[in-house]
Amino acid sequence: MNINSILIKKAIKSDCVYKVACLCFNNKGDLLGTSVNKHGGYGKGLSIHAEIEAIRKYGKGISSIVLCRTNKQGKLLPIHPCSTCMKLLNKYNIKVYNINKRRLNGR
Ligand SMILES: [Zn+2]
Repeated sequence: MNINSILIKKAIKSDCVYKVACLCFNNKGDLLGTSVNKHGGYGKGLSIHAEIEAIRKYGKGISSIVLCRTNKQGKLLPIHPCSTCMKLLNKYNIKVYNINKRRLNGR
């Protein structure tokens, strides 16, 4: 199974309206694991973003992540980390890519 189909399958399973999945790689390019966004945080309707969940799970071990967002039929939708996630990702020096391998932060 290629990484895109893993990502899409993962994203569909998110219980949020805004379905996002994230693959985490270390600096050798090994897959550390995956995360999805989920309900939680403070207040109604808020969610824990997949990027935050990834950092919570794998922390400084992450060198790059690949993000994917789908609708509930599994159709790909545009994805870009929110400014809060982006700040944290940049702080951890994590390279961010979308499923089409386009870099979303840094140089
Ligand atoms: Zn976010």
